[in-house]
Amino acid sequence: MPTRDDILTELGLVPTWRLRMGVETDRAHGFPRGTDPARETPRAGREVAADSLGQAAAQDNEVGSHRTARIAALEWRDFAADVDACTACGLARTRRKSVPGVGDVVAEWLFVGEAPGGEEDARGEPFVGQAGKLLDNMLAALGLKRGEHVYIANVLKCRPPGNRTPEPREIEACQPYLDRQIALIRPKLIVALGKSAATTLLDVDATIASLRGRVHRYRGVPLVVTYHPAYLLRNLPDKAKAWEDLVFARRTLQGSGAAAGQEAGDG
Ligand code: URA
Repeated sequence: MPTRDDILTELGLVPTWRLRMGVETDRAHGFPRGTDPARETPRAGREVAADSLGQAAAQDNEVGSHRTARIAALEWRDFAADVDACTACGLARTRRKSVPGVGDVVAEWLFVGEAPGGEEDARGEPFVGQAGKLLDNMLAALGLKRGEHVYIANVLKCRPPGNRTPEPREIEACQPYLDRQIALIRPKLIVALGKSAATTLLDVDATIASLRGRVHRYRGVPLVVTYHPAYLLRNLPDKAKAWEDLVFARRTLQGSGAAAGQEAGDG
């Protein structure tokens, strides 16, 4: 278990961003921890009912709007198997495991990255490599951890070979799954990690720099944009900006729209 100093060191925020200890714990989320048994819901895992496998296999012959409508009606119990059976783009042929997503299926926080990398492809879980370590530390700095009030997903559920940038048609094919995850989770806030997530969810072509610091909306859900953890690993000075974004995200989630700043006009 990393200490707070470890986390801040990892984020490159010591000493500038040393946090006031008491404030960064449970109270910071705007909800008391461990007080709502209704939240102890099953995790979106890879375990699915056997009959859903047959249903998912049927998607081979499916195209277009019928597929989109079917995915839009999926329930959690069928979700992972459906993703696993998907052949809508070529990535199904090159991936090892699909990576549907992980976490609290009624999370307040939804973090969305780009696509699985090598370790995620091997394990079937998002953000488990180096970038994932940094993401976990970013979550910890907010007093959060994966699986508790947090869900983590990617725009693409399968790894692009060599971790290349996702192609538009791959994003288009996979987007119904992300849309359905968001509809099922109904998060209070979406944090878009990097350009693929931000531009896909906001349907804009823009830079991260131009999208940061404002509250956007995805189908009515507040959305804030920050740098992708993998980018931050290569661009250490921008970690401080990412921390600003996370603090902004937390204020936004706590509902202080005015205090959180300007709302963007999109979505
Ligand atoms: N980068 C991503 O965008 N997602 C992952 O799951 C891992 C690395």
